[in-house]
Amino acid sequence: MAVPLLDLKRQYAYLKEEMDAAISEVFESELFILGPQVSELEQKIAEYCHTKYAVAVASGSDALLLSLRACDVGPGDEVITSDFSFFASAGVVSHLGASPVFVDIEPDSYNINPELLEKAITPKTKAIVPVHLFGQMADMDPIMQIAKMHNLKVVEDAAQSIGAEYKSNLSGSIGDLGCFSFFPSKNLGGSGDGGMIVTNSQELYEKCKMLRSHGEKPKYYHRIVGYNSRLDSLQAATLLVKLPYLRKWSEKRIEHARRYDEAFKDVQAVTTPKVMDYNTFHIYNQYTLASPKRKKIMVGLKDAEIGHAIYYPVPFHKQDCFADLGYKPEDFEVTNEVTEQVFSIPVYPELTDDEQARVIETIKKLAS
Ligand SMILES: *Cc1c(COP(=O)(O)O)cnc(C)c1O
Repeated sequence: MAVPLLDLKRQYAYLKEEMDAAISEVFESELFILGPQVSELEQKIAEYCHTKYAVAVASGSDALLLSLRACDVGPGDEVITSDFSFFASAGVVSHLGASPVFVDIEPDSYNINPELLEKAITPKTKAIVPVHLFGQMADMDPIMQIAKMHNLKVVEDAAQSIGAEYKSNLSGSIGDLGCFSFFPSKNLGGSGDGGMIVTNSQELYEKCKMLRSHGEKPKYYHRIVGYNSRLDSLQAATLLVKLPYLRKWSEKRIEHARRYDEAFKDVQAVTTPKVMDYNTFHIYNQYTLASPKRKKIMVGLKDAEIGHAIYYPVPFHKQDCFADLGYKPEDFEVTNEVTEQVFSIPVYPELTDDEQARVIETIKKLAS
């Protein structure tokens, strides 16, 4: 019995009727760009995240790009982010002609270490991009405090954490702007690329809306040079079908995570993901173990046809494209160790008890 890392076919089988009807409705209307489904999704996501505004965009990467542009990040500026994330968290900074500044992570949460933030701030620093990795939020209170003291904007990379909670505050709602991705493997996954920006600032909201349509307001009057970055009505329509299930799906992931935690708690060679006290709702976009025996375990998992992946094998400071930034490995002790040890295993909502039992049994054997 093969166990995939993620199986979206099960979700589609469950939702097929609703999904097909929603897609047909868009075709009947032929309103493919910024149709009524897009504004409805924006309104519902803003409600879900307890923010005043939401702007739908073409991807999570674009959500970050437009958010930083809205914060006036440009050539010569610096933006601080975690050394350990998906590429987009840093790549968008370079796209704007600014320099990403990497900060090491905490050993327990794998998120940016707030204690190292002040040291990374210079007169050029414009913003901080905390990443809520694997579905658990970064320690936002100290981050917001430091940002306030230094007059910096905070753009939450909440691509992996929609619906997660920090001291009961929703992911994306704490910083100046929050960015979500609807990449199919995220907890709320679209049928292609998609993203969303949330904010409580009317000024930033207006700016993001302009930026996604070539900087125009009103139509054909361009105040700034923007982008073509809109969410398709077809995407919004299928996301509207899925949104009501999101909380239940995340709870199911938590259930699987608790079962793994329990099963691996006495296994010496694997460390289970730690939930920080302030994370009142961790949505487990990934369930990520760490082990010095990763190589052996991964070979065994492959033989057993159990899905697994390394998120992420190379920290930013070691990426070729950032070599000219001149980072030294000794400044990133934690990311260097973590990237050598982590691997993620199946935790999606539809995972069956039998499948999970097989994953557990296999890893226990391999780790002994
Ligand atoms: C997925 C992801 C993104 C980018 O989202 P896309 O929709 O793929 O562009 C950004 N940051 C993190 C942490 C992500 O996981």
